Amino acid sequence: MAEKTKYHNYEAVLSEVMDIQKKYPYIVKIEKIGQSHQKRDLLALKISGDPHKDKNPKVLFTSLIHGLEVIGLEVLLELVRRLTRGYGKDEHITFLVRKRESWFIPIINPDGFAQKKRKNAKGVDLNRNFSVGFSSSGILNKWNKWFFYPGPYPLSEPETKAVKKFIQRHDFALSLSLHSFTGLINYPYGHTKKNTKDHRLFLTIGKEMQKRLCGDYKLRKLSWFYRLGGSLEDELYERHNTLSFLLETSKGELSLIKPSTWFDPFEWFNPKKIKECAQNNIEAALYLLEIAGRADIRDR
Ligand SMILES: [Zn+2]
Repeated sequence: MAEKTKYHNYEAVLSEVMDIQKKYPYIVKIEKIGQSHQKRDLLALKISGDPHKDKNPKVLFTSLIHGLEVIGLEVLLELVRRLTRGYGKDEHITFLVRKRESWFIPIINPDGFAQKKRKNAKGVDLNRNFSVGFSSSGILNKWNKWFFYPGPYPLSEPETKAVKKFIQRHDFALSLSLHSFTGLINYPYGHTKKNTKDHRLFLTIGKEMQKRLCGDYKLRKLSWFYRLGGSLEDELYERHNTLSFLLETSKGELSLIKPSTWFDPFEWFNPKKIKECAQNNIEAALYLLEIAGRADIRDR
């Protein structure tokens, strides 16, 4: 298949994912995990080469919980390509496919993605709609035009409900949500300024990820700037004991000296050099797969 030089749309993602499954049926499986408000399918893809699948540590990768941050999806797809194409050819990749279970949810918010907007079809910011620290108090939170509107109550949306059900069925050691932009590695908590009991572990892993990313990525707690309730990261960590990271891939293209970028949010979030940016993030993601087998992580 020709390499993508343009950003994927919803149909192009489905067709690429189906092609990959057809080409590598012995290591790739696709599952439908739910539907969006507008009846678009939510898909999860699994890569694993071991028939004794339940023995292997699991890692979850997600993108497009915010429908405009398409570069996150491109990074995720690049990782899927790296694992499938490298299997049986590259020793390290073959090991990671055989000895880990990698799960991917490429599009958590397909309606937002189709409409090129952050929130879902009901104006809910899905990364504020999970249950840990969910807050609908305050006048702005009651207004669905507000940028971070969390929804009327926790898990009110079909998309977050489906993801919650899915993560309940699995025991993920680690997870990585791919967002953009600003070049940050984030870890819990988001809903409080407090540190988690795994703060030191988050810092150690985060620093290793930092070394594997090109450019100046900062390591920050999710709540470093302001407290955000109802995130997927706090849900995974607090309710499911998953060491969850959020990566703000790339620096985006918003530039004060380039007026052409001022009024096009798509450009703020999504760099022009897709392939380069996607590859820049792969080693950090592979690192998470690698350490998922470490005793101090899997037996926490
Ligand atoms: Zn985001």
